[in-house]
Amino acid sequence: MKVPFLDLKAQYESIRDEVAAALQAVLDRTAFAGGPFVEQFEKEFAAFCGVEHAVGVSNGTAALWVALVGLGLGPGDEVITAPNTFIATVEAISLTGATPVFVDVDERTLTLDPSRIEAAVTERTRAIMPVHLYGQCADMDPILAIARRHRLAVIEDAAQAQGAEYKGRRAGSMGDAAGFSFYPGKNLGAYGEAGAVTTNDPELAARMRMFRDHGQSRKYYHDIIGWNARMDGFQGAILSVKLRHLPDWNEARRRHARRYGELLADVPGIVPPTEADYAKHIYHVYAARVERRDAFMAALAEKGISCAIHYPINVHRQKAYAHLGLPAGSYPISEKSAEEEVSLPMFPELSEAQVEYVCREIRRYGEIRVSA
Ligand SMILES: *Cc1c(COP(=O)(O)O)cnc(C)c1O
Repeated sequence: MKVPFLDLKAQYESIRDEVAAALQAVLDRTAFAGGPFVEQFEKEFAAFCGVEHAVGVSNGTAALWVALVGLGLGPGDEVITAPNTFIATVEAISLTGATPVFVDVDERTLTLDPSRIEAAVTERTRAIMPVHLYGQCADMDPILAIARRHRLAVIEDAAQAQGAEYKGRRAGSMGDAAGFSFYPGKNLGAYGEAGAVTTNDPELAARMRMFRDHGQSRKYYHDIIGWNARMDGFQGAILSVKLRHLPDWNEARRRHARRYGELLADVPGIVPPTEADYAKHIYHVYAARVERRDAFMAALAEKGISCAIHYPINVHRQKAYAHLGLPAGSYPISEKSAEEEVSLPMFPELSEAQVEYVCREIRRYGEIRVSA
């Protein structure tokens, strides 16, 4: 049996007529850059997240950057974040001129560990940027309490968390602002590049809208130096179609995760991910932990099962961040997860038979290893 890591085509087939109609509507109105389809999606996405404002932008990296710029972050400022993330989180901080400061993560959720944050706060700290890694929210209440105590902004990196919940609150509704990615492989994926920023602050929303469109307050009146970070019309229209299906798709992922969890519970050599008590995890990535990962992945590949690694190298160990001078051993929990993490196939259209097949092969592999 073949089990791909991800299958965008299966999902496209299930909505192809809706997508075709949406694209045709954009063509008929020639509404290509920003415009009514983006505005419509912004309204729908804000309602979905339970916030007042969503601002559509060109991608998730831009979303985080626009949020940080909108909040006034810049040179001399420090932003606290986690080292076990996709590099975009940290690039967005660097691009403002601010300095990223890493804090290690919680062993179980692999999200920012609130108990370690205050030790990293200095006079220059201006913001905390928790990452809702793999589709599970960071432990936001203590993070928000620390932020209040030290007058820091909180920007959620919700790139992997469209529809994830924390104590019943949606990802993207808890911080001062949040950045979402609609990269095609994300739970809510565009058919191209797109992103959005959410906030409940009307002034911040207005600033971010202005910034993403060359700092214009009206056509050719540029009040601030901005950028072109607009969302394109096709993506807005497609995202509106896909948003209607997202709750079902997230539930399907949760169902697969439950099944994986049941079938892998007592298998030697693999530790399935945990869902925190506070969380509704949407399993953008189903991240298990294994020893001798290369051998594990090779054995599954031989059986037609594709896995992936999120992420093999922590950001502080990347060449691009060598100037921070953070040696191996600086963040032991993040570093251990980079060595052990393996992402099993996860997408809504997986069949139950595929999940069972993956687990059967993992069990077989685990038992061979134990008896060897
Ligand atoms: C995908 C992702 C981003 C960046 O989003 P793009 O749309 O690819 O620019 C940022 N942070 C995290 C955690 C991501 O997974």
